[in-house]
Amino acid sequence: LPADFDEAYFEAYDNPEIHALMLGDTQRLGSYLAAIRCHRGAMEGKLVLDVGAGSAVLSMLCVLHGKAGHVFAVEASPGMASVARRLVEINAMQQKVTIIEGRVEEVELPGKVDIIISEWMGFYLVHESMLESVLAARDRWLKPQGLLLPSSGRIWAALVEAEELRKDLAAYEDLLGLDLRPVSSLELQRYASQPRVENLEPRRLLAEPVLFAELPDLRTLPPSGSRQFQAKLSFRSWRRGFAAAVAFWFDVGFGHDVVLKTDPGSPPTHWKQTVVYLGAFAEVEAGEVLAAEVTMAQSEENPRQYNISLETL
Ligand code: SAH
Repeated sequence: LPADFDEAYFEAYDNPEIHALMLGDTQRLGSYLAAIRCHRGAMEGKLVLDVGAGSAVLSMLCVLHGKAGHVFAVEASPGMASVARRLVEINAMQQKVTIIEGRVEEVELPGKVDIIISEWMGFYLVHESMLESVLAARDRWLKPQGLLLPSSGRIWAALVEAEELRKDLAAYEDLLGLDLRPVSSLELQRYASQPRVENLEPRRLLAEPVLFAELPDLRTLPPSGSRQFQAKLSFRSWRRGFAAAVAFWFDVGFGHDVVLKTDPGSPPTHWKQTVVYLGAFAEVEAGEVLAAEVTMAQSEENPRQYNISLETL
C-alpha cells in the first residue's frame, strides 16, 4: 500500500476510544480466544507475530492461553505502541512479548515465525485494506508450514427492506396538504450516496443471504487478491415487500470450526452490517428473483477505501 494515506490512518488508531470499542466487543475477542485455545498444540513454545497489535491484547492472550514461546507485537501507531508496552509490563509479560513500533511492511524481526495472528477486518471485511499488510507480513515472516489466524474469510450479501424509511418518505407526498415529494427523493439520494453502517434487524431480510466473495485460504491468497471482487447475485424473495438495499457482512474462520460471524442474526459486533441503498424501493412478489451485478473495488484515490457498485440486471 502506498504510504500517503497511512499517516491519517495510523493517527486514527492512536485514539484509545477505538481500542476500547474493540476490547469491548465480546464476540470479537471470544472468537480469537477460542481460536488460540484450539490451536494451543501448535502455539505452545512457538514464535508468534501479532500484526497491528494495538493494545497487544491478542499477543498477551497468545501467551496466557496459547502458551506461546514469544510474541512479536508490531504496531505502527506510536501512541498505541507505548500503551501496549505499558500493558505488557502490568501483566508481567516483558519476557514473552516484544512490542515493535513500525509498519509491519518495514520492521525487522529476528527470524521467521510459526504463527501470524492479526485482527485486520474492517467493515464488509476489507474496508481499510489492512489484509494487504497481513499478506505482506506472511510473505516476509511466516515459515512455509506456518499458521495464519484467521485463515479464511467470506463476504455475504442480502436483499433488505427499509420499511420505516419508506413510510417516513411517503409522508412527504402529502404533508399537511402540500406535495413535498422532492424532499423525499433528496433524502433517498442521500441514503444511496454512500454505504451506511447499521445494526440490521433480521426481519428486514427479503431473501436468503448469498455468498458474494470468498477467500478460502489466506495462506495462498496473492498479495493483490483482495483488491477487487465482482459477482452476479440473485435473490429470490421469500415474500412480498419493497427491496431498498443490499446489505453486506463477513465472517472469518480460524480452523477447528471456530468462526467469527457478523451476520444480522448473530450476536452484534462493532462491525454491524454495511447497507448499500438502491436509491429506490423496488416492489417484489414472493418468489420473484432480483438479480444484480455487484463490484467492490479498492478506491484509486484512497486505497484504504472501496467503491461498491450495484447494477440491477
Ligand atoms: N490487535 C488489536 C488491534 C486491532 S486494530 C486488537 O485486536 O485489539 C488494528 C491495529 O493494527 C491498529 O492499531 C493499527 O494501527 C494497526 N496496523 C494496521 N496496519 C498496520 C501495519 N501495516 N503495520 C503495523 N500496524 C498496523
